[in-house]
Amino acid sequence: MNYNVDEKGYYGVFGGAYIPEMLYPNVAELKEQYLKISEAPDFQKEFKDLLKAYVGRPTPLYFAQRLSERYQTKIYLKREDLCHTGAHKVNNTIGQILLAKRLGKNRIIAETGAGQHGVATATVCALMGIECIVYMGELDIKRQAPNVARMKMLGAEVRPAQSGSKTLKDATNEAIRDWINNPVDTHYIIGSVVGPHPYPDMVARFQSVISEETKVQLMEVEGRDYPDHVIACVGGGSNAAGLYYHYLNDSRVNIIAVEAAGKGIDSGASAATSALGKEGIIHGSKTLLMQTPDGQITEPYSISAGLDYPGVGPMHAHLFRSKRAEFISVPDQEAMDWGLTLSQMEGIIPAIETAHAFAVLDLRSFGPEEVLVFNCSGRGDKDLNTYIDYFKL
Ligand SMILES: *Cc1c(COP(=O)(O)O)cnc(C)c1O
Repeated sequence: MNYNVDEKGYYGVFGGAYIPEMLYPNVAELKEQYLKISEAPDFQKEFKDLLKAYVGRPTPLYFAQRLSERYQTKIYLKREDLCHTGAHKVNNTIGQILLAKRLGKNRIIAETGAGQHGVATATVCALMGIECIVYMGELDIKRQAPNVARMKMLGAEVRPAQSGSKTLKDATNEAIRDWINNPVDTHYIIGSVVGPHPYPDMVARFQSVISEETKVQLMEVEGRDYPDHVIACVGGGSNAAGLYYHYLNDSRVNIIAVEAAGKGIDSGASAATSALGKEGIIHGSKTLLMQTPDGQITEPYSISAGLDYPGVGPMHAHLFRSKRAEFISVPDQEAMDWGLTLSQMEGIIPAIETAHAFAVLDLRSFGPEEVLVFNCSGRGDKDLNTYIDYFKL
């Protein structure tokens, strides 16, 4: 079994490009060009130079001593929280802005829910001096004021999406409408391994620097370049795809994906796509998503804004369906408790998204010689108000 994308843009039965005809030229251009451009030596050099000097890569692979002692196993954290802007998302936006430049695009659009991807996009547009428009649901603009302010400060225009539930999916609709109307000069930066082919593969490749570095770093400390388990939280699935990428076809490595169970899988307020999702089409690809019996997308819920998504990318749907990866879902309360535990045992305040992944340690047992790599996808500064309210700090 091959877990990478095939020539037609599918992972098993998932993926593809289910798009309106008017979007076809844009997506076709990208499909024809993305590998040619991103694999060229001059692209790779500029990408790697920026990841080093601007993002701060390689990020450390940190051995978590106290946590390892408590759980009697070897726990490493891949420190994506130390990237410029505080999370892994910038790896992808750097890659896509370089691609956009080479495609001759001088205008960038993006959509954002919590604002994290909007900030990562606004950041690289400022870096390159390119116009940036970020679509965001009107409700999300109210809920995520600090990230809206960051985007504005970085020079981006934040356009409210006023239709529907005024959240992420409505912002996505607006962004797609914009792209249809501006097919020549505009590139649409998608923030996770979702959307029509080639986006899931393109984003996974840009994020794959995470496992590329992990291999080298593990070799130095463990004398082998693979761990026994790779563990990451999954919203759309980009930080997870980055950590899994170079281990996808390595059967020595067990893959664990952690989703948000919100208030409980059966509570009607969760984002546990693997447990609840059915095959369907969202954002232009066939994947697993939470929907009503007549196919309407269900509003997801998680205390962490970055996991609050009703689907998973097609790579993850395939990893789930083929049983290559183990999927678990973790409720708000356990994630929040892990935010506190990681802070007090390792001095690392994680993003709430990230904190979900660590609950695996309470759900599974690992041997003393087993090597675990957790993706520490982001830092917790953005979540401080949620932590304050929750723990009455
Ligand atoms: C956005 C975000 C996520 C979820 O997105 P993926 O595409 O699933 O990685 C996870 N962690 C952090 C810190 C984020 O900002």
